[in-house]
Amino acid sequence: MEFKDFGLHADIERALTAKRYSQPTPIQQQAIPVLLEGRDLCGIAQTGTGKTAAFSLPSLDYLLNNPKPRSPRGCRMLVLSPTRELAAQIAQSCRDYGRFAKFSVMTVFGGVPINKQIRELGQGVDILVATPGRLLDLVDQRALRLDDVEIFVLDEADQMMDMGFIHSLRRVAKLLPKERQNLFFSATMPKEIAALAQQFLHDPVTVSVAPQATTAEKIRQQVTFVEQKEKQALLHHVLKIEDIDRALIFTRTKHGADRVVRHLKGAGIDAFAIHGNKSQAQRTTALQAFRSGQVRLLVATDIAARGIDVSGVSHVINFEIPNVPEQYVHRIGRTARAGAEGIAISFVAPDERPYLRDIERVTRTKAEPVKLPDGFGEMVRNLPKPVNPPRNTGGKGRNPQRQREEAQRGKAGGHRDGGQPRREGAGDGAQPQRKRRFRPRRGGVGAHKGAVTRVG
Ligand code: AMP
Repeated sequence: MEFKDFGLHADIERALTAKRYSQPTPIQQQAIPVLLEGRDLCGIAQTGTGKTAAFSLPSLDYLLNNPKPRSPRGCRMLVLSPTRELAAQIAQSCRDYGRFAKFSVMTVFGGVPINKQIRELGQGVDILVATPGRLLDLVDQRALRLDDVEIFVLDEADQMMDMGFIHSLRRVAKLLPKERQNLFFSATMPKEIAALAQQFLHDPVTVSVAPQATTAEKIRQQVTFVEQKEKQALLHHVLKIEDIDRALIFTRTKHGADRVVRHLKGAGIDAFAIHGNKSQAQRTTALQAFRSGQVRLLVATDIAARGIDVSGVSHVINFEIPNVPEQYVHRIGRTARAGAEGIAISFVAPDERPYLRDIERVTRTKAEPVKLPDGFGEMVRNLPKPVNPPRNTGGKGRNPQRQREEAQRGKAGGHRDGGQPRREGAGDGAQPQRKRRFRPRRGGVGAHKGAVTRVG
């Protein structure tokens, strides 16, 4: 089957040719015809399967074939995504696939100033990609209406639930018009997600590209049993012996991610951390550096990494394994994308063994055990000291290389992160996390009020 068999609008076919896509992926083969008929769809598929094109191509086709003026503060297609990174990626895909048509595509998510978003929404947009929290902030400020949405896409529904967005989603459901096309995607479909799907979908067609929690076939999975406190030494060893193009290293906590980065830097190995305590500017900088190959290692928590689409990730290293088996599937799915082969290496401490058993049961696979290397005790003893958090500034042991890096990052990231103080921007994962209030200033701030009055 080829893309031209779908009979998509010529502008979209041109864009696909420009992207050198010739054959639809399995989820695209199943979903596109159904969506072109205007049916609702429940798609069980994870990131990496081509699901973004599966929902955007027929939607763009509909918008092109049914032109309509934009209505002020409205949008014709609304896509909800759990994370900012995924939202940005989806919007970019829509821009790519719609590049020969004149679509306005906009993203709204938290962590960046809201006023610009309010202004841009004033004239209405064709396609809006949003995270739920900021979306509802904009609705509350009367900068956005959802009553003329024609296509509604809920992406990564299971992740939305994990992140506690259920109440926001219920609210969104009430704000949408009755007549609309609904697309619902989730990597897994446990009972509570199926119940959520029912609230949105009308007589849907269900398509599924892989049985639930099936481990990507092309991924070589390895496991090494190691004490928690010795994992860093093992990581340095693995980074030395493995032929790594790009590696994603997963930790369970934000502090854990920062700690790994500090240790790597102490050993002269460059890496970025990406997690929920980072400002949007820091996250963007880290992702860009990883995508461009400027840094080979990205240390991430599950939520931050979900939906990241970076090609050429040769290794996924589970510094800590997740306590939810499905999360393991999502993690290792970051490698072996678009048919490439990948390696997933898990470090398992004694107290994580029950998690490993759960993973093996759910994925119905057993990772290949790899022994600790000879001389590992020596490696542990000789582990270089971590770089200190920047709080110890001015004292002895200050690392000039790190000072330079921090200064650069402060410049790169300090001014775009929604007015957060520069010292936040200076962190590279080395900074102990301060409690931050992410709540955008609302209502009481004069400038915002002014903007709300103008658009409302
Ligand atoms: P997604 O699952 O939507 O995140 O897509 C995963 C990756 O596959 C993205 O980098 C897409 O650009 C790419 N992709 C999607 N559809 C196709 C296709 N039909 N042929 C080649 N690459 C594709």
